[in-house]
Amino acid sequence: MSCDLCPRRCSVDRGTGTQRGFCGCTDSMRIARIGLHRYEEPCISGTGGSGAVFFSGCNLRCVFCQNKVLQTGQLGQVFTPEALAKAMLELQTIGAQNINLVTPTPHVNGICRALDIAKDAGLTLPIVYNTNGYMSVETVDKLSGYVDIWLPDFKYHDQRLADRFSSAPHYYETALSAIGRMLEQCGQLVLDENVRAKKGVLIRHLVLPACVFDTRDVLTAIRDHFGTETCLSLMHQFTPQPDGKAPLNRRLTKREYEKAVEACLNLGFTRVYIQEGQSATFAYTPAFSSQVTVQA
Ligand code: SF4
Repeated sequence: MSCDLCPRRCSVDRGTGTQRGFCGCTDSMRIARIGLHRYEEPCISGTGGSGAVFFSGCNLRCVFCQNKVLQTGQLGQVFTPEALAKAMLELQTIGAQNINLVTPTPHVNGICRALDIAKDAGLTLPIVYNTNGYMSVETVDKLSGYVDIWLPDFKYHDQRLADRFSSAPHYYETALSAIGRMLEQCGQLVLDENVRAKKGVLIRHLVLPACVFDTRDVLTAIRDHFGTETCLSLMHQFTPQPDGKAPLNRRLTKREYEKAVEACLNLGFTRVYIQEGQSATFAYTPAFSSQVTVQA
């Protein structure tokens, strides 16, 4: 069957086991790390850590990606839906606050099956869908009833940046429509009595060096389309890659991040996660492997 799970609509038959689309995935669900992750926003990590499942393969090619080794879909261990369901239940047993599916879109079919199995077997944790925002509305709809918390990036407003940094045609319109549907589905972010995310949407935006003008445009679009009650995470953790080219060959300056925060507040947003500068280190890149066990 030809794959149209994401806006690339590659039309390759991943079921043959040899044909791969832009994301690098066949129908095998490859996973490179499963474990508790404590470096998400406080409402996602909580005190116990988020139960992160890092999928291999991605439908973007961000030149600054901190998890670049996963982009081609070759790294990691193949999991059946049954094995993934078992791992989710293990995460619940060791105290994960939620199940955090990281870059999951190419594997949506296997994930839905795994969630059906895990829920039948007692999984009660909220499900977080941690995505680059480059999703089709149809796939967001397909996940209705499976996802409790949408955690999408909204990376660019300017298509020139989307082309240059992520090879993503129509990124802005695509992300805008997908996030709009996520909000229709789950509403604005709701926290529980322990300030942990329970349901809704938290939009992430990574501020890039020399691109604060685009941050302003992204934030303005979010305000105009979704309102100032939208919960945002304004990320400071851009890390230049060893082969990075200008302007992405340096860290974000303190002043650039301050300007982004000012823009956010001037636009009227009140629910904003702001990061400290120290978070821009490689320590935030988890270790990936071809032999995956659940890490506490
Ligand atoms: S999920 Fe992968 S194969 Fe399917 S359309 Fe997207 S990039 Fe192409």
